[in-house]
Amino acid sequence: MLSAPEQQPISPTIDEVIAAVELYHPKADFDLIRRAYVFGAEAHKEQRRLSGVPYISHPLAVAYILTQLKMDVMTITSALLHDTIEDTEATREELEQQFGTDVAGLVVEVTDDKSLPKETRKALQVQNAGKKSARAQTLKLADKISNLRSILASPPVDWSLQRRRQYFEWANQVVAGLTKPNSLLKAEFDKTYAMLGQLR
Ligand code: ZN
Repeated sequence: MLSAPEQQPISPTIDEVIAAVELYHPKADFDLIRRAYVFGAEAHKEQRRLSGVPYISHPLAVAYILTQLKMDVMTITSALLHDTIEDTEATREELEQQFGTDVAGLVVEVTDDKSLPKETRKALQVQNAGKKSARAQTLKLADKISNLRSILASPPVDWSLQRRRQYFEWANQVVAGLTKPNSLLKAEFDKTYAMLGQLR
């Protein structure tokens, strides 16, 4: 059961993610999860979120959201790595070697093709959302929730109100295209999206 957002840490640490997994899967491969965190933190180390915080805080938040659904360890591991191929030098081969084909495949599934122009990539996300595996759709949904929460909690300094609203609308279109949305996460997304009116 997804705990209420006010009970979820805004910036969970890897220890909080692992503790959350331990509650439902005491014998999980915690070493794999921790290695994914170390890999992601290293890969993203030069990057910051638009709010200014270190980038790894976002994959941690996505992973934490998924622990609340008691998602399997491979999905949690993939969440910690989900932006590495898209936004860093990391490759599918590297992820395969270090984390296995399941994790690498899931990360690839949620990776945009950075060789395409931004507007094309955004349109493709809307078009392709429903074609992805159920786990990839769940990961996407958690990703969008994390992004909307970030915009609400600490708006990117150089984003106008209109730009923030447009992001909300686009995220909503991607989510509307999902064919297998997890119902708890979908409800959480809808609640977060409804805060659009509070953007100032
Ligand atoms: Zn992301």
